[in-house]
Amino acid sequence: MYFSKSFIPILKNNPSEAKIKSHQLMLRTGMIKQSSSGIYSWLPLGFKVMKKIEKIVREEQDRIGAQEILMPTIQSSDIWKESGRYEDYGEEMLRIKDRQNREMLYGPTNEELVTEIFRSSTKSYKSLPQLLYHIQWKFRDELRPRFGIMRCREFYMKDAYSFDISDEEALFSYNKFFLSYLKTFKRLELSAIPMAADTGPIGGNLSHEFIILADTGESKIYTDKRIFDVEYEKTTLEKKSLENLRNKYDKFYSVTDDKFNKSDFENSVNENNRLVTKGIEVGHIFYFGDKYSKPMKASVDYQGKKIFVKMGSYGVGVSRLVGAIIEAKYKDKDEIMKWPLSVSPFDCAVIPLVNKNDDTNLLKAIKIYEYMKSKNIDVIIDDTEENFSSKIKKFNLLGVPYQIMIGKKSENDLIEFKEIGSDSKYLKIDKIIELISNKKK
Ligand code: ATP
Ligand code: MG
Repeated sequence: MYFSKSFIPILKNNPSEAKIKSHQLMLRTGMIKQSSSGIYSWLPLGFKVMKKIEKIVREEQDRIGAQEILMPTIQSSDIWKESGRYEDYGEEMLRIKDRQNREMLYGPTNEELVTEIFRSSTKSYKSLPQLLYHIQWKFRDELRPRFGIMRCREFYMKDAYSFDISDEEALFSYNKFFLSYLKTFKRLELSAIPMAADTGPIGGNLSHEFIILADTGESKIYTDKRIFDVEYEKTTLEKKSLENLRNKYDKFYSVTDDKFNKSDFENSVNENNRLVTKGIEVGHIFYFGDKYSKPMKASVDYQGKKIFVKMGSYGVGVSRLVGAIIEAKYKDKDEIMKWPLSVSPFDCAVIPLVNKNDDTNLLKAIKIYEYMKSKNIDVIIDDTEENFSSKIKKFNLLGVPYQIMIGKKSENDLIEFKEIGSDSKYLKIDKIIELISNKKK
């Protein structure tokens, strides 16, 4: 991508309406544009990051055997009346009437719709378990949309649903998602901790929120620090191994506001290990048994009986993650942002000092740019005539993790190269490509 041809509408200053870093930065670097309260357009830079996050989320769902579907954004109210949630859901649900005066709604979540899909096509226990997921826009008419895309009204979510024959099997499914979330957030270079949570309007009796630590988070958390050291890398997709994993985490006190109990916290966590701080909820998983399958009559035949399937649901805030990563990665004191390479809008920026009367640097930069592209490096070249230091500032703001500078001193084949936040090195181009490619693996 040539910067001069890109659509990256950078603002000169931080927009005053934005209160937190991620919101400021996303507006400032032209990742998003507000279209109305709590509703945003995603411009190329922001959209690219979100798509890379989506890809990682998808791969980790596929890895545990979940199958992707796509359900519509607009749903009929009928199924919500069957489950009893049409009235309960309240004002967050955007209700619409079509031209035939039928009551429709913009889906805030999809338990009903997926249960309807399941019950109309699955009759035998032999086809269980089923794990279905989709990645789709949701609408919740939040009372106070705020912090940009972190708490907005229209947002992009991965949600998955599991269907099983028994509680035991359903917990097995639950634990698969538990593991897949740990892996997903790790690939996003986030340290997300699973916390026992309330089930809220989704209902049910078992639930974990995945929270990343950030001062600007909206969830207050109380946790045992040792939970950060739990290892999950060796966990396999077998029942026993997954159970062990859950036990390893659940052993440590770790809850959000809703579940907090002072004496439990103080009794179970030694003073030195107590951590009280704030965090951002990036994922939330629930087990709720037959809460929906029973009223909606989603059953399978098993040993001559009809059994209502046991269900769970599993959400990841794909669009919220874009902001959450910024909150976690932004270095306030250096005013530097560095995207994890796995989701960065570009791997590397090639920044030549461009002189009107001498195109040597620009030509050299183009050659490097083309060569890197041919080696599958996602690269952007700044071919504008801006001065060198403002170009570098710009890419620090954009957070592209690697930069190549072609300035005055670049005569031989050693190229000035740096990782944001570190010092420059002088390397040959093939060495640079090798370094970036290895990091991408
Ligand atoms: P919250 O407690 O933040 O309101 P929730 O518990 O209502 O979220 P879930 O139903 O668990 O949300 O949704 C799954 C995920 O979707 C959340 O973990 C979060 O990452 C994301 N999400 C929920 N509401 C919003 C929103 N208004 N804007 C952006 N992302 C959201
Ligand atoms: Mg939640």
